[in-house]
Amino acid sequence: MRAVMFFGPGRIELVDVPRPAAGPGEVLVRIGAALTCATDFKAYRQGHPVLLGELPAPFGHELAGTVEEIGEGTAGFATGMRVVAANSAPCDRCPYCKKGQSQLCDELKLHNGAYAEYSLVPAQIVKHNLYPIPSRLTFQEAALAEPLACALHAVDAMRVEAGERAAIVGAGTMALLLIQALKARGARVLVVGRNPGRLARAEAAGADRTLSAEDGTWAAQAREWAGGIGPDVAFEAVGKAETWQQAAGLVRKGGRVCLAGGCATGTSVALDAHRVHYEQIEIHGVFHHTPKYFGQAVDLLSLGRVRTSLLVASSIQLDEVPAYFERMRDESSPKVAVIP
Ligand SMILES: [Zn+2]
Ligand SMILES: [Zn+2]
Repeated sequence: MRAVMFFGPGRIELVDVPRPAAGPGEVLVRIGAALTCATDFKAYRQGHPVLLGELPAPFGHELAGTVEEIGEGTAGFATGMRVVAANSAPCDRCPYCKKGQSQLCDELKLHNGAYAEYSLVPAQIVKHNLYPIPSRLTFQEAALAEPLACALHAVDAMRVEAGERAAIVGAGTMALLLIQALKARGARVLVVGRNPGRLARAEAAGADRTLSAEDGTWAAQAREWAGGIGPDVAFEAVGKAETWQQAAGLVRKGGRVCLAGGCATGTSVALDAHRVHYEQIEIHGVFHHTPKYFGQAVDLLSLGRVRTSLLVASSIQLDEVPAYFERMRDESSPKVAVIP
């Protein structure tokens, strides 16, 4: 089969590799669509030892497709079934899994290889995070379940309630998913970003108010919008020290700050200690997803409750993937669907 492999930073190639066979508990999926993700671009530029493991490594992690082959002892699936798989699953045995924080699992089973004709879904993921999808959901819509699960996790971790005012710093794909997760909970949503096209998409995704970060008064306007005291909760959806600080500076006294964007390794961020102590703001890092949120994401997508058309810009073929990554390496482009 043809598969895009990662050979090192800046080096991916479409190569021929043996088509895997499904062993016990595994499911072989014929890829219907894979989606590009900012994490893949980060890995492309810098490498990603945790995510990709030994090189050359299979590449891409958001996928949906059709069951081609089922390993021994795998219940609940049949060949020809349309499915979506998450890119990870917890071990159920480590101290973090036992404490109910399975996103921090010591043995988190990560899976890559979405940019290929077939993907062999590991038994641990089949057990926790492989779901049938309804026929009216396209493969590229279904493949949004993984990033959506991250957004649902972030919003749930912040205990957002109906009527609360939420701000999002950043207007990329993560922001579009957070907007929809927040609106589903009845929050009012404001988005701050630089790119006018992205701010327009944020409005189309349901944001009640957008502000340009180029406007020096945006922070004051955001405070004004949130009852003159500042938002109850702020989400950082960029992954830079500067935007982490902006999110922490924005919330009202007693507000919650969700740092959803991961910064580069070695980044330190200075926080205003006065805000943390005397104004009792809560700082939360929220990482990845758990099977609970992946299941919720599949449900929301299946029910047609997500404006998916805003999230995937266009599609390319498998053989176009290496050139596409080279061309877009420094831009945080919207998602494209890779169709084998
Ligand atoms: Zn992703
Ligand atoms: Zn574990």
